[in-house]
Amino acid sequence: MVSLINKVEPPPDGKPDTDRYEVEPVNSPKTRQPLYAPRKKIFPKRASGNFRRFKWLVMLITLGIYYITPWLRWDRGPYAPDQAVLVDLENRRFFFLFIEIWPQEFYYVAGMLVMAGIGLFLVTSTVGRAWCGYACPQTVWVDLFLVVERAIEGDRNARIKLDKAPWTADKVIKRVSKHAIWILIGVATGGAWIFYFADAPTLLAQVVTLEAPAVAYFTIAILTATTYVFGGLLREQVCTYMCPWPRIQGAMLDEHSLTVTYNDWRGEPRSRHAKKAAAEGKSVGDCVDCNACVVVCPMGIDIRDGQQLECITCALCIDACDDVMTKLGKEKGLISYATLSDYNANMALASGGGQVVQPARVRDSATGRLVAAVRRTNWRSIIRPRSVIYFVLLVAIGLVMLTVLSLRSPLAMNVLHDRNPLYVELRDGSIRNGFDVKILNMTPTPRTVVLNLEGLEGGSMSLADGRGEKLESVELALEPDQVLPLRLYVHATPADLDGRQTKFRMIINSNDGIRSAADATFEAPGARR
Ligand code: SF4
Ligand code: SF4
Repeated sequence: MVSLINKVEPPPDGKPDTDRYEVEPVNSPKTRQPLYAPRKKIFPKRASGNFRRFKWLVMLITLGIYYITPWLRWDRGPYAPDQAVLVDLENRRFFFLFIEIWPQEFYYVAGMLVMAGIGLFLVTSTVGRAWCGYACPQTVWVDLFLVVERAIEGDRNARIKLDKAPWTADKVIKRVSKHAIWILIGVATGGAWIFYFADAPTLLAQVVTLEAPAVAYFTIAILTATTYVFGGLLREQVCTYMCPWPRIQGAMLDEHSLTVTYNDWRGEPRSRHAKKAAAEGKSVGDCVDCNACVVVCPMGIDIRDGQQLECITCALCIDACDDVMTKLGKEKGLISYATLSDYNANMALASGGGQVVQPARVRDSATGRLVAAVRRTNWRSIIRPRSVIYFVLLVAIGLVMLTVLSLRSPLAMNVLHDRNPLYVELRDGSIRNGFDVKILNMTPTPRTVVLNLEGLEGGSMSLADGRGEKLESVELALEPDQVLPLRLYVHATPADLDGRQTKFRMIINSNDGIRSAADATFEAPGARR
């Protein structure tokens, strides 16, 4: 691929034999950047400030939820598991507090996934990549691994020094301890995961006594390895190279979404010797080029280079810079959460519509503070039609799911007509249709139900295992949380039928007043009336 830049003019003293061009190949093996650059180690410095505190809080809550949830108990009576959250693969049930979802009710899970999707749209369109910066498991576990690393090897400078140091006994002990604890965290992570799929105390005892199923050990091993490798070794590379979410999120952001922004309209021109430069009458911005924002960044980037795919918007650079601004007696917010719209307005104000930032245009010369015309991003920025629509959608789907859930019957019935033969003509002249019926008792309580026919004149039933005795109703005992399969014959006389097909219903009424019905069709040779 070549790009045409300038056509070389022919020499004045002679005719060229062909056109010649001044050109550089755009895509050349000599200049082409590799798709994957070798990793440079990042040693993030510990940050402190409001966002760091908020991140600690989110980390504690998310880790707490993950590790503790399988141990929460929920009394569902003597016939159902008492684990609050349980994915019961063996019986194909999902228990979530008072909710019990059966396989045929998977639409609830689909609804929850849709809600999660819209929730992510809402969060991303309003507060940018907040998921990545605060709640993503990769972020949370990397943070946890960094806590261990700092506790053993020290903060940034000590870790850099240790990394460069020769392999002494001290270095070996520190490195082995760090990796051992990381692996233990990985084992705990994999261990917690399997407890969501079985009774946690029972499975723990089985795991410890080596009596658990092989799949449990296999799952722990896989999750231990992925947690250790992703959280301890790959870290920021997972976000940069492996996760599709940064690319998807780029399409969700707009000029009113909050992102972590370096406000160069007040920071530039940056100067390490601001006082001296100011004394010399030079125009200087607020950035003192201290790199405090760079050394805390877990992604190893400089936010002053502008919006970057690698930035997970963890806001630690805001904390670092706010600290610097406070020490310098300047207003916080040189790096801040801001919308592109506000940023553009402030940049236009600072540059007067030109190309060069003039700090004096955004500062009050008397007080040195930012002028009132500077747009400050506040909570109103996130309330706009797009976010309101997402929010309303989220609430509407949630309400519909809650309503459907609260109205769902704990009894259900599935009826399947025999395909062949459609009917049997018996010796007494009556017609018999065969059905496979399944009665679902979707609660952890035993029940007695009575099965009746409705809409089939003169109709009666017999059970396949009931020696052909014809019954008007059938009483059935249902085990808790079970499906009762039934082979049922329905009988009718041709004189009572309207034609080849007669629609009717099978009804069940339980001893505690719950009713369920299923539509069915009675097949016959033809109208005999
Ligand atoms: S640039 Fe700032 S917000 Fe972005 S990842 Fe680095 S520290 Fe976090
Ligand atoms: S922390 Fe603030 S002042 Fe220091 S380099 Fe970063 S933006 Fe500039």
